[in-house]
Amino acid sequence: MRTVPQAQEITLQHVQRLDVESVPIERVLGRVLAEDVVSNRNHPPCDISAMDGYAIRFSDVKGATKNSPVTLNVVDDIRAGSTPKHPVCAGEASMIMTGAPVPGGSDAVIRVEDTSRRSHKGRHSKQEHPEAVDIWVEVPSGNNIRLMGENLKLGDTVLNVGAVIRPAEVGILSMVKKAQVSVYRHPTVAILATGDELEALNEPLNPEKIPNSNTYSTMAQIQALGIEPVLLGIARDTREHLEEKLLQGLQYDVLIVTGGVSVGHHDFVRPTLQDMGITIHFWRVAMRPGHPMAFGTGPKTKVFALPGNPVAGMVCCEQFIVPAMRKMMGFGQLYRPTVEATVASDVKDRAGRMHFMRAHLSGKENNLQIESVGAQGSGILMSMVRANALMVVPVECDYLRAGDRVRVQLPGSDQFQTEPRLDIC
Ligand code: AMP
Ligand code: MG
Repeated sequence: MRTVPQAQEITLQHVQRLDVESVPIERVLGRVLAEDVVSNRNHPPCDISAMDGYAIRFSDVKGATKNSPVTLNVVDDIRAGSTPKHPVCAGEASMIMTGAPVPGGSDAVIRVEDTSRRSHKGRHSKQEHPEAVDIWVEVPSGNNIRLMGENLKLGDTVLNVGAVIRPAEVGILSMVKKAQVSVYRHPTVAILATGDELEALNEPLNPEKIPNSNTYSTMAQIQALGIEPVLLGIARDTREHLEEKLLQGLQYDVLIVTGGVSVGHHDFVRPTLQDMGITIHFWRVAMRPGHPMAFGTGPKTKVFALPGNPVAGMVCCEQFIVPAMRKMMGFGQLYRPTVEATVASDVKDRAGRMHFMRAHLSGKENNLQIESVGAQGSGILMSMVRANALMVVPVECDYLRAGDRVRVQLPGSDQFQTEPRLDIC
């Protein structure tokens, strides 16, 4: 029987990054970049002002204070988007707006709050275009000037293959005019539930049946990765119906089947997949919940056969499907984050399998506490609702004492890490 890390490794060996597709910038958030992006411009295109104020020569304002201001003649009014009409000579200033080009001769900008307007006759002026300005502060050379190319330099590689596209990257892509972006393709995913006892969502409530929840919890786990899966409904526990449904599922990059993969008389998923040419790479993993999990591959499709128990399916999806899908999508960080925490109260367990206990994590960064949420049955989906973390009880461990240190996985996080790190180290 495989351990969780072994089964993860086998899965990832059989899964490759998918090909590249071109996606409009409007839909590129969260994708992984498949091309280096080179800047086709300088940004800013020239030296521009970072403030509304006056472009001056810093040597003109040396020693200026509020009590002893320096008065400069105003020779120009430069708006953002316009071109300066006059250079700034000694004793002169140009009104300038944020984002406007700094005129020749000027080497600093004084913000408007550190000045007052004047007319030539020496009175304070409220007119829009003052003839002169009093400067109250001295500033260093380069003050409030954004240098040409300080954001983007023409010809520089500004984003690299493998970058995860966040909102800031989307902004940069627009700056360099990338309306279409090369990213790694997302896998297509189908989800199939199996079981004669299952009641579909659109069927009337029958108190003797089991509601098909796996389709929807798995769907949501896949949606959380940014992928809209196709729902194939429920296959009944006959080889014929199963084969018919599996055939549909094998059109997709990833097929997730839930239930029917254990040792019951009607658990036909594995033999049917094998008859259909799928190679099973492992079946059964030393974990709780989730023991009868299987993974196989066909010419096109990676097949994950999850246990039917609702919690087991979700936990297996986190351990095996999430990293595999992220690899296909081009991410470097495949695994949900884990942290170390202190066990809050004693936990009795059975050795032999890695146990992902539904638990509640509390406390601050250096003093995290973890506690079971109570009943841990693999059919008790409410334990997943109550939990905000999975406490990873190591394979060999049959008892955890309050105060012991343990690894905790955070399936709800949108951060990922490069290693599974399920063990305490
Ligand atoms: P199985 O792996 O098919 O033997 O199923 C194990 C347990 O999970 C049984 O109690 C099933 O009723 C339950 N189960 C199987 N499939 C689903 C499903 N799609 N939704 C909810 N429970 C399920
Ligand atoms: Mg079943």
